[in-house]
Amino acid sequence: MSNAVGTSVLCARGLHKRHGEGEGSVRAVDGVDLDIGAGETVAVMGPSGCGKSTLLHLLGGLDRPSGGEVWLNGRRIDDISEKALARVRRTDVSYVFQSFHLMEELTAVENVEMSALLAGRSPRTARRRAEELLDRLGIADRSKSLPSALSGGQRQRVAVARALCNEPLVVLADEPTGNLDSTATLDVLRLFKDLHESGQTLVVVTHDARIAATADRMFSMRDGVLVDETRLTGGTTGQLGALIGLED
Ligand code: ADP
Ligand code: MG
Repeated sequence: MSNAVGTSVLCARGLHKRHGEGEGSVRAVDGVDLDIGAGETVAVMGPSGCGKSTLLHLLGGLDRPSGGEVWLNGRRIDDISEKALARVRRTDVSYVFQSFHLMEELTAVENVEMSALLAGRSPRTARRRAEELLDRLGIADRSKSLPSALSGGQRQRVAVARALCNEPLVVLADEPTGNLDSTATLDVLRLFKDLHESGQTLVVVTHDARIAATADRMFSMRDGVLVDETRLTGGTTGQLGALIGLED
């Protein structure tokens, strides 16, 4: 086992996932090795169906690999019990989905605090942190709104706040701007840039080159494998940021 397992927040070793059985089965992830350090933002790009979502599910313990290993903070998580894995999902990893996945009957602040409550925080701590996050993400005035009363961009901010409220080791985002118009996309782009600067470890699957440009490293995925790695310099991010008006 390489040394990086001990020092990285998230590692994959020889990761494989086959969906289904026999002839009709699909090799969605076909041998992925990955080491993600604390505070790193990593972007994964690639065509539809190449295995990006499956990879994220494996990294976050939403699904089990057919082969290989996943290590989170120095601990192997692919072979632990269902109960232990459920705990990992509640406390150590958060997801941001393309379609937000908010609970429609709960207000914005209730959606956000839910992740902290599930991770075992007291109601008072959970509420305080949820309100702080909504404030930081610029939607404090919508905290009592139901998701149905929010725009797409506001919903995704609530989803990001929820993802941060349990103070996870890693946030995994699957095409977070896939359902947003261009203005909302820019808002979420700024948000991810802020997250990166705040030291949050982040893996983001995206079709948007501007989101990918906020990352430290960008991978291309094809047919279940990571085929290409680009290490983005501050210059690249800076230039791109300036180009799209991110630099204040
Ligand atoms: P991406 O996110 O890059 O679009 P996915 O990881 O969703 O790719 O899918 C990779 C491949 O695995 C695709 O061929 C897809 O049809 C297949 N696949 C994904 N999830 C399942 C599933 N639950 N059952 C069967 N096949 C699946
Ligand atoms: Mg996908």
